[in-house]
Amino acid sequence: MKFQDYRISPEIKKSLEKLEFKKPTDIQFKAIPPILNGEDVLAIAQTGTGKTAAFAIPIIHLINERKKGTRKKGIKCLVMAPTHELAIQIAGVFEQIGQHTRVKVYALYGGTEQDPQILKLAEGIDVLVTTPGRLFDLRSQGHLNLDEANILVLDEADHMLDLGFYKDIEDVIRFLPRGRQTLFFSATINDNIKKLAYSLVRNPIRIQVSPKDPVSKNITHSLIFVEMDDKRFFLERAIKENPEKKILVFVRTKVRCERVSAAMKRVDLDTLTIHSDKDQQKRSEVMRLFKSGEQKVLIATDISARGIDIPNVDMVLNYDMPDVPENYVHRIGRTGRGKEKGMAFSFCSKDEMPYLQAIEEYTGYQIDQLVIDDVNYDQTLAVSSEKESITMKQIRKEIAIADNFQKKKRKKKKKK
Ligand code: ADP
Ligand code: MG
Repeated sequence: MKFQDYRISPEIKKSLEKLEFKKPTDIQFKAIPPILNGEDVLAIAQTGTGKTAAFAIPIIHLINERKKGTRKKGIKCLVMAPTHELAIQIAGVFEQIGQHTRVKVYALYGGTEQDPQILKLAEGIDVLVTTPGRLFDLRSQGHLNLDEANILVLDEADHMLDLGFYKDIEDVIRFLPRGRQTLFFSATINDNIKKLAYSLVRNPIRIQVSPKDPVSKNITHSLIFVEMDDKRFFLERAIKENPEKKILVFVRTKVRCERVSAAMKRVDLDTLTIHSDKDQQKRSEVMRLFKSGEQKVLIATDISARGIDIPNVDMVLNYDMPDVPENYVHRIGRTGRGKEKGMAFSFCSKDEMPYLQAIEEYTGYQIDQLVIDDVNYDQTLAVSSEKESITMKQIRKEIAIADNFQKKKRKKKKKK
């Protein structure tokens, strides 16, 4: 079935045509009808399979139809996401799909000035996409009314219902009308979180696409055993051997993010970094540069693992193994999106073997290992510019010492 045959507003069909969305993806095919029917939905489908449009299309339709009749002011749908970047991206998808409708969308998040946000909210917003923090600030100051918010979406639902966010979600639900429709979307979910999700709704419809392998079939992923101290040489080689490729590198902490970037700088490789210690303006600029391809290599923490849809990421490199097994699926899911193919490599050191075991238990199979023989391994270290420059520095130092020695000798001779 094509989108043109759907019973959705012609304005939406027009924008889908512009976006070149002809046929629904599996998850869109399965999730759109029950959402249009007002059901609660828990939808699990692999990374990059179009989950955003799976909820945005029916929600825009529902709001657009309602608006044609009595036009009530007030937020009609609240979408919650874990990071600023994801909130901005989801709002962008709503805007694109709703561009010919009167549905107004806004992304609200912290780390930037409140006043313009308050003005924007006062204009009247239909779909508010937000991270929990700023939502609470503005609501407690009386700038946000959620009495009409009849649809709640939790994107990256398992993460939003996990320890760090659960209390926030419970609080948000208290502000919403009782008979609301609740939608959960994610690529991963475990039994506990599933139970938690069910406890928040009436009769959820559960939709799961390709449950066996959580990793998208578009992604070829493998493992390389590398000692911790040697990882930077392998990253250097990967970047230098693939100068045209867009590479997303994941590390475990903000500090390591900057350290790895500095190590690349030492060998004349320019990289960008993104993590939660960077101010919002820098984060947005970094995303813009990486999205446009002006900068080819981005080093990120798990902040960028969830949901981010960057076109043409050729390669994901897990410089550090993720310590949360699900995040393996989300990290490598930044490549191979839509119809694209992608590849991912994980550098695993001896100390990280327990993480690998947890990941393989989670995926249910052994990840292919890319065997690097000793010669190749040593070559990687040998060709590093860092090693070269250390050697060059050493040589220069020795020359300088020798020079000095010669000069002193000459001076002594003159004195004589
Ligand atoms: P997910 O949330 O499942 O990880 P996204 O919603 O971010 O995936 O979508 C992944 C990519 O697929 C996006 O770039 C989006 O534009 C594209 N896409 C979504 N639906 C369709 C469709 N029906 N036809 C073609 N491309 C699509
Ligand atoms: Mg998504």
